[in-house]
Amino acid sequence: MTHSFTSTVLGSPRIGPNRELKKAVEAYWAGKRDAAALESVAADLRTRNWTELRDAGLDSIPVNTFSYYDHVLDTAAMLGALPERVADIDNPLDRYFAAARGNDIVAPLEMTKWFDTNYHYLVPEISPSTTFSLDASKVLAELDEARALGIQARPVIVGPVTFLLLSKAVGSDAPLLDRVDELLPLYAELLGAVATKGVEWVQLDEPALVADRTADEITVAKRVYDSLSELENRPAILVASYFGSLGDALPALAATGVEGLSVDLVAGTDSLASTPELARKHIVAGVVDGRNIWRTDLESALATLGTLLGSAGSLAVSTSCSLLHVPYTLDAETGIDKALRSWLAFGSEKVREVVVLGTALTHGRESVEDEFALARAAASTRGSDPRLHDENLRARLASIMSSDSVRSSAAVRREAQTALNLPLLPTTTIGSYPQTTQIRVARAALRKGEIDQEEYVSRMRAEIADVVALQEKLDIDVLVHGEPERNDMVQYFAEQLDGFFATANGWVQSYGSRCVRPPILYGDVRRPTPMTLEWITYAQTLTERPVKGMLTGPVTILAWSFVRDDQPLADSANQVALAIREETVDLEAAGVKIIQVDEPALRELLPLRAADQRGYLDWSVGAFRLATSGVADDVQIHTHLCYSEFGEVIEAIAKLDADVTSIEAARSHMEVLDDLNAVGFDLGVGPGVYDIHSPRVPGVDEIAASLREALKAVPVERLWVNPDCGLKTRGPAEVEASLRNLVDAAKLVRSEL
Ligand code: GLN
Ligand code: ZN
Repeated sequence: MTHSFTSTVLGSPRIGPNRELKKAVEAYWAGKRDAAALESVAADLRTRNWTELRDAGLDSIPVNTFSYYDHVLDTAAMLGALPERVADIDNPLDRYFAAARGNDIVAPLEMTKWFDTNYHYLVPEISPSTTFSLDASKVLAELDEARALGIQARPVIVGPVTFLLLSKAVGSDAPLLDRVDELLPLYAELLGAVATKGVEWVQLDEPALVADRTADEITVAKRVYDSLSELENRPAILVASYFGSLGDALPALAATGVEGLSVDLVAGTDSLASTPELARKHIVAGVVDGRNIWRTDLESALATLGTLLGSAGSLAVSTSCSLLHVPYTLDAETGIDKALRSWLAFGSEKVREVVVLGTALTHGRESVEDEFALARAAASTRGSDPRLHDENLRARLASIMSSDSVRSSAAVRREAQTALNLPLLPTTTIGSYPQTTQIRVARAALRKGEIDQEEYVSRMRAEIADVVALQEKLDIDVLVHGEPERNDMVQYFAEQLDGFFATANGWVQSYGSRCVRPPILYGDVRRPTPMTLEWITYAQTLTERPVKGMLTGPVTILAWSFVRDDQPLADSANQVALAIREETVDLEAAGVKIIQVDEPALRELLPLRAADQRGYLDWSVGAFRLATSGVADDVQIHTHLCYSEFGEVIEAIAKLDADVTSIEAARSHMEVLDDLNAVGFDLGVGPGVYDIHSPRVPGVDEIAASLREALKAVPVERLWVNPDCGLKTRGPAEVEASLRNLVDAAKLVRSEL
């Protein structure tokens, strides 16, 4: 009989409490550190992570959640499924990084969002010629390391169903899940190898089962776990689900012979009581939110656990998902006010909550009563803090929403906007220009107090003047100020809005070595003063041409923040929208005639289940329209979206009703524009004419050819000419060369009209 554990987490952050791994891999990439030095940083981070979890009191510790870049890529490497184009790179670490980031010769794998989080994984490419083979060396080595420390290690591995469902089929249209039988022997071998090392439990992650799945897919999942559980030489299997409800997959998994199942009781609503087979399973109950930063209501979590006792064979307490999605610890946040601090729990605080709940469950709550009292006190101050309920603001919001959040028809606006006097095929950019070294130096100097605000402003103004002069020289029609004052577009607004707290060290991994610091939305949102006005109006004084005001939309601000859990997201979105609306009104009053409200994250927040999508799209479109309907008809509203695979959001894009939409067009322009035409989109559109994610300078003929192609799908009056995203990550020389060609191409095509 397997010993069943009582408290665990589904996974840990891996970048290091001070982003040690980021620094080490970047130094390795730059050739400043060798592989041995990188490996030693990694090993130290793992040791530190496991011992912290053990010392905190967890009795089953996830191992193999470490990654040099991404855990899906690790799984592809483990299964011999790295793309063929990296196969002849001999050094395994360099081969791995080439698949992740590309090199001079090979293109990297595509990257996409990990479910509805802001973490991005690499999408394995599987072709008919992929021959899977097992390389378990990473798992086994980490296991040895952990066991040498006496750690009760539970290897965590992406399960075969999720692996195939998240991969991309190349060179064949057959569903990848058809190839699961090729993977089963490899997983069998892997389970045998870890069992031989004395491992008691293995965790196979199957989050793909919380999205809508066909009956056939669920049948495959059942068959996979029937077959793995019949193996003789294997540890107990925990199938881990997270980010939502298992729905029909729950009884299917419960009917297999696996010993354990983890369920997300924060994001999901599965009822365990209706599945009698669970009475023979070890249920790992995700009651501590692994994705948000709020302190757990221990009382209600314990009550939830209590109700599960009757439905489960045995019960363990856990986070709802891996702690990959939250910062390491509150200890690093010194500048936080006392009340707010008491409402929060980051990674290590969440581990403590799991242990407290595990103790309460197994030994009664007496020994941890103090912690329950602290949680209760925090909940009570949070409930009554005036910053969370600004009645004036709420009344004003309600009144605008009921009377004043629609614009005139598109035709009426178009007429009013002819006063802008733009040429056909107007040229513009998405907002940011290269973040030069001077910009970074100035920002760092301001932070360290080496320069004062006045000096900082004057340096930013100098940057703006350069960018405006460049655009005039290039003869671009609609100018931007270049966004030098923003390092992160969401943080920039969050720092200026009441109701948001910007952390000092709250880093979470976004992808590879890239980390972000999501602000915390804790209260009602108010805009004490204008946020962008000074910069935009300064830029406008430098030129006769129109300068676009540049704002971030409400959905994107929420998508890249930790959000309130005490009210619906829609309500928070409307509050942010009101602040953005106030900014547009101020910009208009200052004479700004074109305002762009970026919503690159509109698709990111889309719920995983189709049944929840309509409601989301309604409120997100509503928030955007609330933000953009405060200005007169002659103000032209632009928006920008960072993708061209519209999928379920295509109708929502049309409903945003922005006068001009710039989008990525990685696929052909015709396809992108045809998709928009199909839903009756008849507003201005700027399908990106070149890919800013690559340093390559596009030629005039190439851009002109794209424009001619686009003109087959949309009338010339609606077409705009722009790159496909902001230019902040590019170098000044390539930006200048690319934009020169863009303007020349627009002129060439105009001359042919
Ligand atoms: N205006 C922003 C920029 O140009 C848009 C960024 C984005 O699309 N993610 O950088
Ligand atoms: Zn973009």
